[in-house]
Amino acid sequence: MISESALLEKLPRGLFIGGEWQDGSRGTFPVKDPATGETLVEIADADAADGIRALDAAVAAQDAWAATPARTRSDILRRAFDLLTERADEFALLMTLEMGKPLAEARGEVTYGGEFLRWFSEEAVRISGRYGMTPEGTGRMVVSQRPVGPCFFITPWNFPLAMATRKIAPALAAGCTVVVKPAELTPLTTLAFVQLLVEAGLPEGVVNVITTTTSAAVSGPIIADPRLRKLSFTGSTPVGKKLIAQAAEGVLRVSMELGGNAPFVVFDDADLDAAVDGAMAAKFRNIGQACTAANRFIVHADVAEAFADRVSERVRAMKIGRGTEEGVQIGPLIDEKAVAGTAALVQDAVDRGATVRAGGSAIDGPGTFFEPTVITEVAAGSDILREEIFGPVLAIATFRGEDEAVRLANDTEYGLVSYVFTRDLARGHRMIDRLETGMMGLNVGVVSNAAAPFGGVKQSGMGREGGLEGIHEYLSTKYTLIPAS
Ligand code: NAD
Repeated sequence: MISESALLEKLPRGLFIGGEWQDGSRGTFPVKDPATGETLVEIADADAADGIRALDAAVAAQDAWAATPARTRSDILRRAFDLLTERADEFALLMTLEMGKPLAEARGEVTYGGEFLRWFSEEAVRISGRYGMTPEGTGRMVVSQRPVGPCFFITPWNFPLAMATRKIAPALAAGCTVVVKPAELTPLTTLAFVQLLVEAGLPEGVVNVITTTTSAAVSGPIIADPRLRKLSFTGSTPVGKKLIAQAAEGVLRVSMELGGNAPFVVFDDADLDAAVDGAMAAKFRNIGQACTAANRFIVHADVAEAFADRVSERVRAMKIGRGTEEGVQIGPLIDEKAVAGTAALVQDAVDRGATVRAGGSAIDGPGTFFEPTVITEVAAGSDILREEIFGPVLAIATFRGEDEAVRLANDTEYGLVSYVFTRDLARGHRMIDRLETGMMGLNVGVVSNAAAPFGGVKQSGMGREGGLEGIHEYLSTKYTLIPAS
């Protein structure tokens, strides 16, 4: 296993524009380890003009990349998958250092993130159209798929690799060029990944990376530029709304993977062992900092006590620490703001009558840690039931009838993912129909898969990443009519 210092030593630190590593016009900024608060490295800080130069490079490369045979694009993605698999340990360590997740979970993200490269290398060669006669028999209709053109991607800090590959792989497969702006808190994995893409044979200008501390100032001019054809964003709903408004100005195509407020419904007929296992995965993976994290545990009153006892016992046994340490299950939250926000949500719930069954507090530094926590008897109207927690807090409210469970589960402006535990197959099917959600786990706590369409309804966003659907986000449909004479 490579040492931390050797890994950081060989890391590129510039902007990657037109195939070259370049300095940022605003100098550099530090990237910190949230487990220690210490600076890992300093990297380039782009200004708006740097951002436009990155778009220039993507625009210049677009026609040649679109004309590159699909098999060639596919082979590059497949080589990238193979290289990533070979270097899984290095990418996992890098993510743990900049984001804080336990190393075992970071390895899991390398597997998940890598699968998008493999999946879309396979999809690249299956882009096809259709041919048919008009119903009147007077014309031949040709329907073809074209790459949408240069894309701009804005990614969040919580899954530094997977959020990048989930966008970059389908775009490259479709024949689009790209500018990526990773989150300023965790930009290092994207820099290492683009280096790997170059090794895999990616031509210059096809993927460009800009890192910056002034996201809005750099993104605005790119989004406003008429040469840009697609914006894909993963992040919070408030920022997503601003970006949709900016994109509307140029009628720019958008995909929005936004926040979640996942209900986790446990019926009284559920397999409680499976529900507890599912709850631990759905809540504490990524230290609770996932858009798919279970946010509201809605548990039948007859099994709520048993469920709370069992999750509390598991939570009290969790090992907290720096993600690089053996056996750690709970790393740090991303920053002080996240700790304060989590503490405020717990306090509000307690003020309204909730009981703390495990954890409940921030942990003194260094690092930004919060204890894994279970709270029960969470009252309707508590902030924690309305807002995305983004921390390791499992909050339990109760219900009695199926209609009440559905009403509570749907009582949110979000609709990304829902989890339901029941042994009753008919009820399971009814819940699939009745829950307002883009994705659902029926008796399972993790649903993400590169072969499946990931995305939400309501204010969780629009568009799908992965699956058969994912590549269509980067294709536009063209119809041609030819007289049938
Ligand atoms: P965020 O919205 O604060 O930031 C996301 C990205 O947007 C970052 O790169 C940030 O630098 C950039 N950004 C922030 N303000 C901007 C602006 N005004 N203009 C342009 N860019 C701007 O979100 P975050 O804290 O990085 O990530 C957590 C959020 O992401 C949560 O809400 C989570 O649910 C969501 N998320 C959603 C998915 C999904 O697929 N639906 C996946 C992961 C995370």
